[in-house]
Amino acid sequence: MAALRVAMLSVHGCPLARPGTPQAGGMQMYVKALSRELGRRGLIVDVFTRRTDETLPTIVPFGVNARVIHLDAGEAALIDKNAVADALPEFVCNLQRFRRIEGVEYDVIHSHYWLSGRVGSLLAPRWGVPHVTMFHTLGRLKNNALSEQEESESRIAVEEYVVASADRVIASSEHERQSLVDLYRARRERVSVINGGVDLHLFRPLDRTLARARLGLTGEVVLFVGRMDRVKGLDILLRAIALLRSRPSLKLVVIGGSGQEDEFRRCQALANHLELDVLFRGAIPQEELPTYYNAADVLVVPSHYESFGLVAVEALACGTPVIGSMVGGLPTVIHDGENGLLVPWRRPEAFAEGIARVLDDPTLRATLSANARPSVVCYSWETVAARVTTLYQEVVAAQPVETCAKGSCHH
Ligand code: UDP
Repeated sequence: MAALRVAMLSVHGCPLARPGTPQAGGMQMYVKALSRELGRRGLIVDVFTRRTDETLPTIVPFGVNARVIHLDAGEAALIDKNAVADALPEFVCNLQRFRRIEGVEYDVIHSHYWLSGRVGSLLAPRWGVPHVTMFHTLGRLKNNALSEQEESESRIAVEEYVVASADRVIASSEHERQSLVDLYRARRERVSVINGGVDLHLFRPLDRTLARARLGLTGEVVLFVGRMDRVKGLDILLRAIALLRSRPSLKLVVIGGSGQEDEFRRCQALANHLELDVLFRGAIPQEELPTYYNAADVLVVPSHYESFGLVAVEALACGTPVIGSMVGGLPTVIHDGENGLLVPWRRPEAFAEGIARVLDDPTLRATLSANARPSVVCYSWETVAARVTTLYQEVVAAQPVETCAKGSCHH
């Protein structure tokens, strides 16, 4: 059988972009790692993304059988996602042109996030191929978590349209599947749960003393890793650390992009106001993260909403316990009292109590650390890619035979 060709759509956020910036988070890491792994398995993957810098070449290979294709759409700079939405027609035209000029055809479209979902829903019937989509975050869930309308009605309308038209939606947790059914009227049988993955070779236990020495860290170290976005709840953690003032050696290290300037400034101002000694390290390449996870006593994920929570899986893979909010996909990853603690209330007091418990109880800490890595070995990219490949094969096989021949349909 010929190799499956996949058009991976990641309009908003290039998988090769610097991590931690506003448009480079878990989704980009996911697209990059999954595409590489699919390529290794013999599939052929083209990742289509918007050009954010005019010096970028159009085609950039980034693994066996995997390339990124930068397409012109809107200003060649980092722009707001609403501006990206306005540039989608140009993106679609340029994608069609690329396909025509290169003479490539695809067997399946796999789109990421609502912006790409819209493109996928438009192109799939024209090309006569199935459309698989993933949202990574859903507007309605984000609004519910923040108890305010941060995400627009137009985004939510697009998500509804994509849910209704895609052949299959991949949810990263059972919670996301249920939310798609309850809040977006998705048909349950069209939603498959495939969790996110972790690079178990990169994220592994290292010598803790050496990791600390490399970073110049001493004392009790609490770590936060995430994009600067209100949904990540960094303010809750800052207030929790303020409640732990009586522990003079406790230090909070914050890794994450200063991309969303408002949120970054808001958190820095709060840290100053609370007179906390926080180490804001900014965004760092993923390859450097294992040293931080290994140096930390605990990773805290105080998110208001998290569809899966890759950082939690990465820390656990390094043998570091995780304290996280009981939201979204986090309970899939964190098992309370086994590899970390789940905090049901997004209140600083509850997080402070959890952090103190882990730091003060050596037996609990040893148990959580010992269970951490074994609890996430099931999340290897090899396993994720194998499941995604099976799903592609299913949707391709289910395509109606009377559909237009690929490439010859101009409807
Ligand atoms: N990350 C990184 N450098 C940073 C901050 C984050 O490489 O400075 C990566 C991190 O390793 C993880 C991803 O970004 O793989 C964040 O994923 P997560 O699911 O936790 O959050 P999301 O961005 O999807 O909301």
